[in-house]
Amino acid sequence: RAVANYGTAAAIEEPIKPSVSIEHTKLLINGQFVDSVSGKTFPTFDPRTGEVITHVAEGGKEDVDLAVAVARKAFDEGPWPKMTAYERSLVLLRFADLLEKHTEELAKLETWDNGKPYEQALNVELPICVRLIRYYAGWADKIHGLTAQADGPHHVQTLHEPIGVCGQIIPWNFPLLMFVWKVGPALATGNTIVLKTAEQTPLSANFAAKLLLQAGLPDGVLNVISGFGPTAGAPLASHMDVDKLAFTGSTETGKIVQSLAAQSNLKPVTLELGGKSPFIIAADADVDQAVELAHFALFFNQGQCCCAGSRTFVHESIYDEFVSKATARAIKRTVGDPFKAGIEQGPQIDPEQFDKVLSYIKSGNESGATLETGGNRIGSTGYFVEPTVFSNVTDDMKIAKDEIFGPVQSILKFKDLDEVIRRANATRYGLAAGVFTKNIDTANTLTRALRVGTVWVNCFDVFDAAIPFGGYKMSGIGREKGIYSLHNYLQVKAVVEPLKNPAWL
Ligand code: NAD
Repeated sequence: RAVANYGTAAAIEEPIKPSVSIEHTKLLINGQFVDSVSGKTFPTFDPRTGEVITHVAEGGKEDVDLAVAVARKAFDEGPWPKMTAYERSLVLLRFADLLEKHTEELAKLETWDNGKPYEQALNVELPICVRLIRYYAGWADKIHGLTAQADGPHHVQTLHEPIGVCGQIIPWNFPLLMFVWKVGPALATGNTIVLKTAEQTPLSANFAAKLLLQAGLPDGVLNVISGFGPTAGAPLASHMDVDKLAFTGSTETGKIVQSLAAQSNLKPVTLELGGKSPFIIAADADVDQAVELAHFALFFNQGQCCCAGSRTFVHESIYDEFVSKATARAIKRTVGDPFKAGIEQGPQIDPEQFDKVLSYIKSGNESGATLETGGNRIGSTGYFVEPTVFSNVTDDMKIAKDEIFGPVQSILKFKDLDEVIRRANATRYGLAAGVFTKNIDTANTLTRALRVGTVWVNCFDVFDAAIPFGGYKMSGIGREKGIYSLHNYLQVKAVVEPLKNPAWL
C-alpha cells in the first residue's frame, strides 16, 4: 500500500476560526425567525472537530402545521401568486444580487457547517447558486401555455398555473445549492414553500432565507424549518395541505416520503436520490487527463456527491498505468482544514458517514480488492478520511454496488464496449455517468446505451443552471434545473370555449 503523509494533524488540532457571525438559528415562519413551539433546540457540529458550532431551533409537527398554514394563506390570499410575473422575477434578481454580495459569509457558513473546502464553496458553489437564481428569475415571466385544436368548434387554451404549497426537503452535502435548486423554480412559478433543511447543516439556508426577505419576498411565501427527518420531514411529506413534495436525499428515505405523500393526499413527488455512477475510460484515452478527471469525479466534495463517478471502469490496455497514476494522484490530494488555502479535501460530514465510509473500506479489503493507498482515518479529531484507491474491484463486491458517499475510488477493468455497457447498467441506480474517449463513435454508443439521467462526455459535474439533473431507475423521479424543473411546479389547466354561440342557444 502506498502511504501518503497528509500532514494534517496541526491543521485539525488548531482549526481556523471563521470570521462570520451566526445570526439566524430559529425557524422562519411568516417572515419572522421564531422559536419552535416546543422550545427545543439541537446542536449543529463542526465536522473538523466534532465540536458544537451553535444550537438551532428544532422544528416538529406543530411548527410544520403553522408553517404550512401561513404558506397556504400566502398562496390562497397573499400577494405572491397574484403579483405579476415580472415583479416576482425582480425579487429573484435582487436575491441573486444579495447572494453575490454576501458570498463570503455564506461560503464560510457552508464550510463551517459542512466541512467542504472554503475555496470550493466560494469559487464554485456560490457562483452556481447566484447564476441559478438569475436563470429562474428569467423564466418567471416566460411561462406560456399552449393553444390546441379540438375536434369540436372550440377554442382550447392551456394555462400553466402554480401548483400551490410546496414541501421541500433537502440534504447536507450541498446545503445552499440544494436550497436554490428547490426554491428557484418554485418561486419563479408563483408557489409558496415550506422547506426543511438537513439536521447536519441548517445554517446557510437560514442566512439565504433572510436575504430573500430583504429582496422583497412577502411574508409567508418561504418558510424554513430546521429539524430531523422523522419529526419534521415526515409531517411535511404527509401534510394534507401541501400540494407538492420535492425531496433530495437517500433512496431509502425517498421511498418513505413517497409513501407518506401517497397515503396522505396523493401529492405529486419529485425525488433526487442516490447513485453509483460509472466513469468509463476508453482504450484511446489520454491516461493523464483521464486520471485527473476520474479523480475529480469521485473525490469532489469529499466523495459526498450523489452523482460521484464511483465505479471507475478502465480499459484493460491502459489499466495498470491508470491504477498507478490514479494512486499517485490520490496521494497528492491535499487534505486538511477546509478553511486553509489550497486544501482539496475536508472532513466527512459526521460520525455516521465517517464510520460508514471506513466500514466500506474494511469491506473492500475483506472482499479481496487491492488497497493501493489510503484506507485510514487522518488525525484524531474530526472526520477526516485518507483518499483511498482500490484496484482489482469486481462487480460483485459491496464497494462496487453500494453508494459509499466518501473518498474511496474503485477501479474496475473492462475489455470491450458491449461488456462495459452491460456492467455499467447492472445497478439499481441510474443517476449519471462519465465517458472519456477521443472517439466520437464510442462516445455516441455509450451516451445512447447508458440508462442514466446525465452523461458527461470528457467532462464531469458540469452543473449549469440550464442542464436538467435527475435519475433513471431508483435514482429518482423528475428533473431539477433547466426548463424541466418548471414543470414540477406548474399545474396545467385546460380552458375550453366555443368558437361560435353555444349549440344550445
Ligand atoms: P437522508 O435521506 O437521510 O436525508 C435527506 C433529508 O431527508 C434530510 O433533510 C433528512 O432530515 C430528511 N429525512 C430523513 N428521514 C426522513 C423521513 N422519515 N421523513 C422525511 N424526511 C426525512 O439522506 P442524507 O444522509 O442527508 O444524504 C445522503 C444521501 O442523499 C445519499 O445517499 C445521496 O446519494 C443522496 N443525495 C442525492 C442527491 C441527488 O441529487 N440525487 C443529492 C444529495 C444527496
